[in-house]
Amino acid sequence: MTDVTSATPDNATGADSGAAYPDTRLFIDGQWGEATDGRTLNVRNPSNGRVIGTVAHASIADLDRALEAADRGFRHWRDQTPAQRAAIMRTASGLMRERADRIAHVMTLEQGKPVREAKGEILAAADIVDWFADEGLRVYGRLVPSRFDVTVRQMVLKEPVGPVAAFTPWNFPVNQVVRKVSAALASGCSMIIKAPEETPASPAALVQAFVDAGIPAGVLGLVYGDPAEISGYLIPHPVIRKITFTGSTAVGKQLASLAGQHMKRTSMELGGHAPVIVCDDADIEVALRSMGPATFRNAGQVCISPTRFLVQNGIREEFSRALAEYAGGLRVGDGLAEETQMGPLANERRITAMTELHSDAVGLGARVLAGGERLDRDGNFWAPTVLDDVSTGARIFNEEPFGPVAAVRGFDRVEEAIDEANRLAYGLAAYAFTGSLARTEELTRGIEVGMLWINMAAAPSAELPFGGLKDSGHGSEGGPEAMESYLNTRTVAIKSA
Ligand code: NAD
Repeated sequence: MTDVTSATPDNATGADSGAAYPDTRLFIDGQWGEATDGRTLNVRNPSNGRVIGTVAHASIADLDRALEAADRGFRHWRDQTPAQRAAIMRTASGLMRERADRIAHVMTLEQGKPVREAKGEILAAADIVDWFADEGLRVYGRLVPSRFDVTVRQMVLKEPVGPVAAFTPWNFPVNQVVRKVSAALASGCSMIIKAPEETPASPAALVQAFVDAGIPAGVLGLVYGDPAEISGYLIPHPVIRKITFTGSTAVGKQLASLAGQHMKRTSMELGGHAPVIVCDDADIEVALRSMGPATFRNAGQVCISPTRFLVQNGIREEFSRALAEYAGGLRVGDGLAEETQMGPLANERRITAMTELHSDAVGLGARVLAGGERLDRDGNFWAPTVLDDVSTGARIFNEEPFGPVAAVRGFDRVEEAIDEANRLAYGLAAYAFTGSLARTEELTRGIEVGMLWINMAAAPSAELPFGGLKDSGHGSEGGPEAMESYLNTRTVAIKSA
C-alpha cells in the first residue's frame, strides 16, 4: 500500500540497503537518487498495515532525465553483440539466485505472499532471464531469393524497436518486470520501468542485480510515482517506441488507446477470470490436488487464478465440499512465518472488492462452503473462500475477483460449460479436467483462451507463450513470440553493381 507524503525519507539508502526493508529511490542514467522535488510515498506491510519504508515519487523532470538516458542507453545497447548482452544477463541471473533469500524477505514484507512463494518467484525469474539471454543469440533474420533477378540479394532484418516503457503491477513484483526486461534486453532495447509503488523494493533489487552485472547506464531506468501521470507522459513521448503493460483490462484499454493515438506498438497482459471445467469422467483427486493450491496461491491475486469453477452436476457436491475442506484447512498469516500457506491481500482495495463481490453473490443465492469474511486481525486478511450455486448474474461470475475465492456452479452438458467459459470478454487462461480424449479435443477447440491447461495446474515457463485473447490483451510474454514484439522487421534488397 502507498500513501503520498512530502517528507524526505530519513533512511533513504537505495535498493541495495542492508536494512530489513530498504527505502527505494529512482534509478536513472546509471544512478540511484531521490526525486528532484524530494517527494516520496509510504510503503506498508499488508500483514499489519504498518509503514515500513518509502519510495521516491518521480516528477516530470525526473522522467525527462530517464527518457534522455534511455535514448542514449538504447544507442549503446543495440550496438553490443547478442553474446555481450547475454553475458550481462547471465551474470544478473546468477546474482538474483545468490540474493534470492534476501529479495524474497523484502518482497514478503511489501507484498504479503508466503516467503517460500516469493523465493520461488525470484528463482523462476532468474530462469526467465537465462532463457531470454540465450534466445537473443537466435535473432537471425533471413535471406529471400529474388523472383526477378539472381544478382539481387534480399534480406529480412530483425532490429530492436528502441526504448520501451514498461508498466508492471504488484502481484508478482519481480516476475512481471523480468518477463518484460529480459525480452527487451535480449532484443537490444532499452527500457524505462514504471514498477508498482506498493511493492517497490523487490523490483529495485532486481534492477540492482543488472547494475552489479554491468548493465551500461541508461539501458535500464526505474521510476515510481503517479501511474497515470507517468504513462500519460511516457507513452506519447517520441523517444518511447513501444509500450508494455500488465494490469487490469480497464487500464490496459486506456493505455492502448493512448498508444494508438501515437502509433506506438503495445503488448497488453490484462485481466482474466479463468474457468475450470471439471467433467464427470475426470480424476477428481487430480483436479483437487492441482486446483486447490492454484486457487489460493498468492491469495488468488494471479491473472491466471482458477476462479469460475464449472463442475458437472453428478460430481459437483463431492468436488465443492472437498475444495471447501482444503480451503478451510489452509494456514493464513504473515508471509514471513514458516507455517503460513496463504498471506494477506496486497492492499485494502482488494478487501473492499472481496466484501462487495461476496455479499452480492450470497444475495443472489450462493452457498458459502468455506470462508467468506475478513479475518478479525490487523492486516488485509480474507479467509480462503468457496462458494457453490453461484448465479451467472452474480458480479463474482463476471468480474475478475483477484482474491482467494473459488466460485462454483454446476453444468449438465460439456457444450454448456464451454459456452459459459466463453461468455465473458476475458480470454486469458482456462483449466479442464476429463478422462476422455474426445472431450479433451472438444475443450481444446472450444475454449477461447490464450492458455489452456488440461488435467493439470498452470505451468508457465519462459519458453512458452504467455498471453491472452479478447479483453485479456494481446502479445505474448514468453517464447520466441515475446522477442518478436521487441523487434522491428525490415527488408533490404541489394543489387550487385
Ligand atoms: P488498477 O487497475 O488501478 O491498477 C492495476 C495496475 O495498473 C497497477 O499496477 C497500477 O499501478 C497500474 N495503473 C493504474 N492506472 C494506471 C495508469 N493510468 N497508467 C499506468 N499504470 C496504471 O487496479 P489495482 O487495484 O491496482 O489492481 C486490481 C486489478 O488489477 C485486479 O482486479 C486485476 O484485474 C488487475 N491486475 C491484474 C494483474 C495481472 O497480472 N494481469 C496484476 C495486478 C492487477
